[in-house]
Amino acid sequence: MSSESSEAYDAVVIGGGIMGASATYALSKRGLKVAMLERFHPTHRNGSSWGDGRIFRFAYVEPSKVKMAQISGDLYQELERRTRMRVLNRIGQIDMAPIGHKELRGLVDTYDKGGIPYTRMTAAEVNKTFPQLHLTDREEAIYQPDGGVTYADSARTAFFEAARQNGATLLFSTVAKAIHRQPSGGFAVDLAAPDDPSPMRRRRIVCSKVVVTTGGWTNDVLKMVGLCTLPMRVTNEQPMYFMPRDGEDVAAFEEGAMPVFIFRGFEKEYYGIPTVKGGECGVKVAVHQGCHDMMDTPEGRTKQENAQFTADTQKWVRRFFPRLDECRYSAHRCLYQMTADREFIVGCHPECTDVIVATGFCGEGFKFAPWVGEACVQLGFPERMAEAVKVPSEFTLSRFVPSHRTGSEGGGGHVYAQSRL
Ligand SMILES: Cc1cc2nc3c(=O)[nH]c(=O)nc-3n(C[C@H](O)[C@H](O)[C@H](O)COP(=O)(O)OP(=O)(O)OC[C@H]3O[C@@H](n4cnc5c(N)ncnc54)[C@H](O)[C@@H]3O)c2cc1C
Repeated sequence: MSSESSEAYDAVVIGGGIMGASATYALSKRGLKVAMLERFHPTHRNGSSWGDGRIFRFAYVEPSKVKMAQISGDLYQELERRTRMRVLNRIGQIDMAPIGHKELRGLVDTYDKGGIPYTRMTAAEVNKTFPQLHLTDREEAIYQPDGGVTYADSARTAFFEAARQNGATLLFSTVAKAIHRQPSGGFAVDLAAPDDPSPMRRRRIVCSKVVVTTGGWTNDVLKMVGLCTLPMRVTNEQPMYFMPRDGEDVAAFEEGAMPVFIFRGFEKEYYGIPTVKGGECGVKVAVHQGCHDMMDTPEGRTKQENAQFTADTQKWVRRFFPRLDECRYSAHRCLYQMTADREFIVGCHPECTDVIVATGFCGEGFKFAPWVGEACVQLGFPERMAEAVKVPSEFTLSRFVPSHRTGSEGGGGHVYAQSRL
C-alpha cells in the first residue's frame, strides 16, 4: 500500500464499463484493496457496455483469442455460480459466407487445431434447420454449438455485485478529475461529481496502481497523468432490432430457437442475436466495424438514427431474413473504440508501468471481459496470480511508436502515430 491513509488503495480502476467491472472483480478476488470510479450510474447507456446481449464465440482465426474466449467462458460460469445471475447462454453460433470463402476456411483450420466442435452446413441445411434464415446456394455456413449470448447489463451488474462482496469500493457518479504521480511512487486521484466544479467531501484517494478502463475516454485519462495518448478513435455504431412479420411465430426468433449469427466475406460484416428474454423486442442486427462516424472522443456522438445505416441494414434483413419485417424496427447508437491497427490494447503504459490500460476493443471485447480482468491482475500484481495469464504481444502499448509531441506541459504528453485512422 502506498500510504497509511484510510483512503489508500492498492489499485484504482477508472471506468466502470464491462472491462472496469471485470478488472475490479479480478483484483478484489485476489484480496487487493481496490476502488472503482464510474462517471455515470451502474447501468448507464453512454459507453459501450450497455444493452441486452453480446455475441460470445470461439470463431476467431487467432488461437490466442480462442484461448481467451475459453478462459472467459469458464470465468463467466464462475461468476454465475458466485452471484446466481445468468450471464452467458450457449445457444450456438453460426458463421455464414460465400462458398469457399477464406474466412470460413480459416475458422475450420482453427477449430480443427483447437479441437473445437463444429458442423459445416450447406445453404439447404441452414434453411431447413433455421428457417428464420435464408441462404442461397452460393453460400454455406459453419455452426459452432458452444457460442451464444452474453447478457450485457446482467454481466456488468454481476461483476459489480461480486466485487462488492469481495470488499471493493464502487464509486458511481464519480469522475477522476485529476491524477497526480507522487514523487515517492503511486498516484493521488482527485474525485469529483460529473459536471460539478465544486470539490466533493471525499476528494482525494491514493493508490499504487491505476487501471484505465475508460473506453472511448481513455486518452483524456492518459493526458491527466501526462502520458502519451493512443491512436484510437470512437465510432458511433447503430444496432437495430427487427420484429417478425405479422403472422410469424415470435418464439421462433427467440434465444434457444435460433443461434447468434455472423455474415462474413460480404460487402459488410453483419451480425446479430435472437430476441433475448427480458431484452429489447426483435432480432438484433448490426454491422461490425462498418460505421465511419469517426470521432476523437465520445463527446461528439449523436443518439439520432442514421438513415443510411438504417436503409443498408433493412436491405440486408430483406435479403437474409425474409420472415422479419424490415419496416418494424428500433434503432440505437452505441460506441466502438477503434485502434489504429484494429487490435486490442492491454498492457502497462511504457512511460509509467504502474498505469495499466485495457481499451480499444474494436467492437468485440465483451466476450473477453473476464480474461481482461485477469490480465489486469497479471500486469499489475503478477505475484497474486496462482497461474500466469499470457497477454499476447500484439496487445502491448509499445507497438505504437511515439510520433510527435503535442500539447503543453502537464497537459498531456504526446500522441502515438495515428496511422490508418
Ligand atoms: C453495438 C455494439 C455491439 C457489440 N457487440 C459485441 C458482441 O457481440 N460481442 C462482443 O464481444 N463485443 C461486442 N461489442 C463490444 C463490447 O461491447 C465492448 O468492447 C465493451 O463493452 C467495451 O467495454 P469498456 O469497458 O472498454 O468501455 P465502456 O463500456 O465504454 O466503459 C468505459 C467507462 O468509463 C467511464 N469513464 C470514462 N471516463 C471516466 C472518468 N474520467 N472517470 C470515471 N469514469 C469514466 C464511462 O462512463 C464508461 O462507463 C459491441 C459493442 C457495441 C457498441
